[in-house]
Amino acid sequence: MIYSHLMSSKFYLTTPIYYVNDKPHLGHAYTTIAADALARYHRMKKEEVFFLTGTDEHGTKIMEAAEKANKKPKEFCDQISQEFKKTWQNLNISYDYFIRTTSKKHQKTVEKILLKLKKKGVIYKSKYKGLYCSGCEKFLRRKELINNLCVFHQKKPKEISEENYFFSLKEYLPQLKKMIEKDKIKILPPERKAEVLGLFKQKTGDFSISREKVEWGIKMPWDKSQTVYVWVDALINYLSGTECSENSKFKRYWPVDLHLIGKDILKFHTIYWPAMLLALGLELPKQIFIHGYFTVDGQKMSKSLGNVIDPNDLIRKFGVDATRYLILSQFPFGADGDISLKRLAEKYNADLANGLGNLLNRLLGMREKCKIKKINLNEKSERKRTKLQKKYEKALQNFQLYEALLIIWDRISYFNKYIDKKTPWILIREKKLDKLKEILYNIHIGLKEIVFLLKPFMPQTAEEIEKNLKKEIKRRRALFPRINSF
Ligand SMILES: [Zn+2]
Repeated sequence: MIYSHLMSSKFYLTTPIYYVNDKPHLGHAYTTIAADALARYHRMKKEEVFFLTGTDEHGTKIMEAAEKANKKPKEFCDQISQEFKKTWQNLNISYDYFIRTTSKKHQKTVEKILLKLKKKGVIYKSKYKGLYCSGCEKFLRRKELINNLCVFHQKKPKEISEENYFFSLKEYLPQLKKMIEKDKIKILPPERKAEVLGLFKQKTGDFSISREKVEWGIKMPWDKSQTVYVWVDALINYLSGTECSENSKFKRYWPVDLHLIGKDILKFHTIYWPAMLLALGLELPKQIFIHGYFTVDGQKMSKSLGNVIDPNDLIRKFGVDATRYLILSQFPFGADGDISLKRLAEKYNADLANGLGNLLNRLLGMREKCKIKKINLNEKSERKRTKLQKKYEKALQNFQLYEALLIIWDRISYFNKYIDKKTPWILIREKKLDKLKEILYNIHIGLKEIVFLLKPFMPQTAEEIEKNLKKEIKRRRALFPRINSF
């Protein structure tokens, strides 16, 4: 291959780092599984992938959660951070580095970045008065409230007045706006780009980057009476993550190719973060994809409603790969959607037990009666395959995970129908083995192709099917045994 002497292209993708005030839930899993599928897809294309995830561990909310749990903040963070790691391991997430904001190296990077910004003259001290939601860890404008409450937390924000350090955001807004308009930072899906451009029309002031009354965090390097604002601390993870891993990955991987985020943190990632990078003279992220949210049976997932879904429970019920599939196949990536455990079970039976599992079992069953013979496929089916692969590629290039899965499942149902139509059991009975061999070979090739397309989404299943296709082994347990509903 020509790759050997050329630097292959790289792909640096990130999830948000997750706030450790509580253990991982379905929302975290959604972003992370999506990122994992994309990381695996880009590795398949022989790109050098750097996939970063981690945990956001500073701020008042975490100190409060630690107090509630009767733990020291660091001890509390260690425990929850570990739960995230374990959950990602259970979901077979292939991240390259897991960053923690309480790590010494991250802390050093944050200090270094802040000193750099100060040297550039874009940081100043000023009095600030505003409404602060500790749930969001951010100041809200009165306009953003509904019935005087934070929309996300249904809590009344506190009125805070303090002296903080500020970042001269305004200086960078015109340049940033142009870059977003021209897709220098591509914001996806397109309706989110429109939303971001709308933000520029609002009066946006500079933003404060330190807090006076927050104890649990990184101290401002030149003023220990102030703590670095937890969002500034968190965003810098995308830089420190490349420096924390063994050997500095910064030179190889910067800039970020894709930030995957949820819509609640849009402003931080599309305005504050790129503006900070402009000030630092660093290249901006190439793409930011904003995904939607789940409701569960029509309601927002919340502790008080008791409908928070633990991804580990799904793994216990469905298995790892089925959980990955079920989460990504609910609705288009980028849109909002609703899930219900009952529908997940139905989809499992329809798509996995009766769909993919059934197709493999039928092939293996027939193979016991008759050897597979290689035949020359006609041009038509070759063309069809190329077309299909292109459609799949295009979907994944545009982060359309749901559509990519639809393409695969179209193929699966095509081959199940093909078997129904060709009635191979009659051929077996009538001992028309030549005809049967041809059918078997077609299904064999079809499944091989399906396996290839499945790899980013269901890596273990793909491997298992591959093994079955290679070896003439006896049929074993069903791949996805049917399950009862919830
Ligand atoms: Zn809030």
